[in-house]
Amino acid sequence: MNNPSSSPTTPLLAVDRLAVDYGLKGVSLPAIRDVTFELHSGKAVALVGESGSGKTTTAMAIAGLLSPNAAISGGEVRYRGNRIPIDDDAAMRPHRWRDTSVIFQGAMNALNPVQRVSNQIAEPCILKLGMSRKAATERAMELLELVGISAERGAAYPHELSGGMRQRVMIAMALACNPSLVIGDEPTTALDVITQAQILKLLAELRSRLDLALILITHDLSVVAESCDRVMIMYAGRIVEDGEVTDIFANPMHPYSRMLIESIPDPQRGRRMVRSIPGDPPTLQNRPSGCAFRHRCPSAMPVCATDIPSLVSTRQGRVACHLYSSTNEEMVSQNV
Ligand code: SF4
Repeated sequence: MNNPSSSPTTPLLAVDRLAVDYGLKGVSLPAIRDVTFELHSGKAVALVGESGSGKTTTAMAIAGLLSPNAAISGGEVRYRGNRIPIDDDAAMRPHRWRDTSVIFQGAMNALNPVQRVSNQIAEPCILKLGMSRKAATERAMELLELVGISAERGAAYPHELSGGMRQRVMIAMALACNPSLVIGDEPTTALDVITQAQILKLLAELRSRLDLALILITHDLSVVAESCDRVMIMYAGRIVEDGEVTDIFANPMHPYSRMLIESIPDPQRGRRMVRSIPGDPPTLQNRPSGCAFRHRCPSAMPVCATDIPSLVSTRQGRVACHLYSSTNEEMVSQNV
């Protein structure tokens, strides 16, 4: 897409105050609110949070792949400076695969069990790029090699491949139409730790080789350090902290980020036990007033029960917590 206003500094993706609601038994429930961020080519951001935090809803809204009971209720998404029609399934078709593609979790469910994997990779090349069957099959073979599978294995059916190989096939499919943005929806969840590390390494290599932008959805903070530059932590449908991975790991500002990081075993720092976060995240139906984290937060104050904290800039990114509001500047300087 050409856009006269697009310049080298225009982000590949700009998400502006995105809001999504889910319809449940005739009631509209807010799933995400005020999600705002930018992503440049070649950069990777992780969306992290527990179930129900809104990370998958955010990513699927960007890809125009929300479930039928979900609706965009505010905000917009721009790709290379152009607004994209994320609320219009038919209008989004030209964007899917070519601009943005998704690596889904659980490759065994996502792949067609009765089709050879090379045919499955070739399919989007035929449908979206108008390639001939022969050229698309050649492209499928190249893509298999790119993700570390020998081209001959393209004749295999999904059940004949290991879990790691199937996930590599999913990555090859996602790359089939040369997208600039890839969304990884928990792409390593179903894999053992060694295969998980191999897939994350592969994604990092491909990102640098193809100048891809990556949005990695995960509930597991430990995979973020390996594969992303930046992390956005979500809770109850809002971004609560955003910053460089190294900064957030070294100095988490939001109480939820701090507790998430403390829940990762770190033998080097003498933390061998997993420390869990007490309580459960709120469901869509029972979001509390004020800060949604207040029932689990050891630092909650009276204002937290009434006012939703705004996402404000800090010296290392953005944070949404009353500890860092202008009236608590002293706390900001102490970085509590
Ligand atoms: Fe805790 Fe209040 Fe900050 Fe929420 S706003 S995280 S309850 S201190």
